[in-house]
Amino acid sequence: MKRFWKEATKITRALWYADERACAFCGVERGPICPSCTINYLHPELGRCRGCGKLIMSEDILCLDCGAGKGPKQLDRIVAWGHYSGGLREFIHAVKFKAQPRRLLEIARPFSNWAINQLPPVEGVVAVPMHAARLMERGFNQAEVIASMLHWELGLPIIPGVERIEPTSSQVLLSRQERLLNLKGAFIVRKPGNIKGQNMWLVDDVTTTGATLEAVAEVLRESGAHEIYGLCLAAGLEKKLVPSCE
Ligand SMILES: [Zn+2]
Ligand SMILES: [Zn+2]
Repeated sequence: MKRFWKEATKITRALWYADERACAFCGVERGPICPSCTINYLHPELGRCRGCGKLIMSEDILCLDCGAGKGPKQLDRIVAWGHYSGGLREFIHAVKFKAQPRRLLEIARPFSNWAINQLPPVEGVVAVPMHAARLMERGFNQAEVIASMLHWELGLPIIPGVERIEPTSSQVLLSRQERLLNLKGAFIVRKPGNIKGQNMWLVDDVTTTGATLEAVAEVLRESGAHEIYGLCLAAGLEKKLVPSCE
């Protein structure tokens, strides 16, 4: 019922205020991201763990896991725009599972502006690749759509030639170590010439343990990548830090 009213309000508003953009996350307030969704899901007051991108208290540099040496090692830094919960999570679900990649356009500008303020400029963007079978099923790779969005907003070239050759089963129930093992040999660089000596942003929609970014970064390193920065729409956050918004 709540969802119905949310939708109804959105439609009514769209009729009354034709040029008013609704918030991408709640659809109710004025967008692209309304102030309360910014506070609830993007947490501008929090810092990001330099190791894995998790949202942490801004006076810290690393989360507990990374502080204990259990974080990704192949990336120079990982940042995530927001916390994978509530409206941001629903938004990512709509993009991925309801086949609405166009919705990413709603956040193109604020996300790109945020990214360029967080990370050093680079020669190009690499999207975490999707296996061909999965791509056939879904029709698009959301990481590639995010990379194109950064290309259009910031003029950063997209660096092609990285592929996923192993379909990986769901990682949800696996530990970080098991995930890394599961991803071993999953990625390959087809065109090392594109990678050698380059600085890049490695883009994905969500990061939890950083294992996927780590596995891709490993093959990028083997091909001579210089600096690699992970960039995601959302990350987990340290459990006890902020009460869940769901
Ligand atoms: Zn909102
Ligand atoms: Zn961390």
